[in-house]
Amino acid sequence: MSFRLFDAPLREPSQFVGFAGNTIDRQSENRADDSVEKALADPSTRLLLMHGGRLYLKSGDGGFDPWFGAKESQPLEASLDLGVLLGFSEHGPVLAVPAGIEPEQLPETIKAIDYRSVYMQGLIDEAAAGALAQGAALLAWHASHRFCSKCGTESEMRAGGYKRLCPACGTEHFPRTDPVAIMLTATPEKCLLGRGRHFAPGMYSALAGFIEPGETIEAAVRRETLEEAGIRLGRVVYHASQPWPFPYSLMIGCFGEPLNDDIQADLNELEDCRWFYRDEVRSMLAREHPGGLVTPPKGAIAYNLIRAWADSA
Ligand SMILES: [Zn+2]
Repeated sequence: MSFRLFDAPLREPSQFVGFAGNTIDRQSENRADDSVEKALADPSTRLLLMHGGRLYLKSGDGGFDPWFGAKESQPLEASLDLGVLLGFSEHGPVLAVPAGIEPEQLPETIKAIDYRSVYMQGLIDEAAAGALAQGAALLAWHASHRFCSKCGTESEMRAGGYKRLCPACGTEHFPRTDPVAIMLTATPEKCLLGRGRHFAPGMYSALAGFIEPGETIEAAVRRETLEEAGIRLGRVVYHASQPWPFPYSLMIGCFGEPLNDDIQADLNELEDCRWFYRDEVRSMLAREHPGGLVTPPKGAIAYNLIRAWADSA
């Protein structure tokens, strides 16, 4: 019998999704309370500037450039004291910093673009998009966790932004990542796709939901599929994951094997949910469906789950 555990494709499926190309060396073992200060003293340090869910980008003939020097960031009212050290690139230290200036006050040459559009439109390279996912999640966590959840005192940033410490009760708080299961229920012939109420016209996607405390990934996949579609699952297998900075999730993509056929959609959650046969799905992936139905765009983990299934036979 062969050892099948590592019988995986050469390129991990996770490497095909948006926000997955982070190449920063985090050097987590070296994080110290003066890490940000030291990085800012290094002239090679580069900053990503963010404000209200948007990335600030220099725009020119060569496209968009998300990297700013520390001096260059001053007119944009960068709060360097609230910066987080993401780690080190081949060019030097990399920080994510909140910018104070409002988008409408920016000079002509700098654009404020929401994170989703930055990645959907491929405005920056994969490595920069990966750094954006890391920085956006950390800045969002700091912005919404200013006060100690144990005693209510305002806490302080430590360890280059990878910790908050309460000066009153000494409790340490660490950045969180919220796991979300996203699953494609499929047989060799057909797969289950649903339409959320706020989806773009014609779009169908894999079902998804937050993993709850005390739940395995597989249990969450089975529970969500039963709740949303009335479909019981047998085998569940992991496929790929995606950092998802809205605000700090990790999408965990799985395939599930259905045990029954009769869908009972939860119409509070979904507008529609049905089985799709392979030819129809292929036309949706190719944006050639006669009725205008589409899958989520390339880069989305749902697209990659659907694509992997459609290409599997
Ligand atoms: Zn406290």
